[in-house]
Amino acid sequence: MTDLAERKMRFLYALRSKGVTDARVLNAMEKIDRGAFVKGLFAERAYEDMPLPIACGQTISQPSVVGLMTQALQVGPRDKVLEVGTGSGYQAAILSQLSRRVYTVDRHRRLVREAQEVFDALGLTNITAVTGDGSHGLPEQAPFDRIIVTAAAEDTPGPLLAQLRVGGIMVLPVGQSGAVQTLIQVTRDENGFEYHELRPVRFVPLVEGLGQE
Ligand code: SAH
Repeated sequence: MTDLAERKMRFLYALRSKGVTDARVLNAMEKIDRGAFVKGLFAERAYEDMPLPIACGQTISQPSVVGLMTQALQVGPRDKVLEVGTGSGYQAAILSQLSRRVYTVDRHRRLVREAQEVFDALGLTNITAVTGDGSHGLPEQAPFDRIIVTAAAEDTPGPLLAQLRVGGIMVLPVGQSGAVQTLIQVTRDENGFEYHELRPVRFVPLVEGLGQE
């Protein structure tokens, strides 16, 4: 076996051992090469289960956390998904394998542009990447069947709750920046919202307004 193939096999093994057991999620994570989303110095660490630095002072999330969040989102093939926090584009690419269409928003123009280049190179045509402040959601495309937020807010942003379809699920980290946050799964039914705490996580903060680059 080549070194790369072996690293990829260990990558999948690490996901399973950390609780990513959904076969559809594992298939998507096998298919989408994390190495395509990590640039420069850190590229050779793409198959390790750790967050890594990307441009604009941001991070690509830890693969097992991507897997667990995707699993908690329970995405179906007909779903329209909103992701807040495009970053490298890796999470959006995984979601693109499991859903009908993914809208992903980041406050950094440069990250959106670079993620779009990777989507194009991989032929992922069902992702729409937008520059904007995702804490307002994407009203023109709402409602969404699923919403995932990959930056931490102190509270669930109201516009995102409003843009979640009845029957929908949202997964997001909630808590103060720099501290341990809690990953939350929010489900919406006719009677309102239900909140389930999933696990402790650590994400970069959800910041208001557009970034410098
Ligand atoms: N999901 C990404 C990792 C996201 S890191 C991946 O798979 O690589 C968190 C991202 O959230 C950063 O890129 C940051 O710029 C973005 N972000 C922070 N606040 C935001 C906001 N209000 N609107 C949109 N994006 C935001």
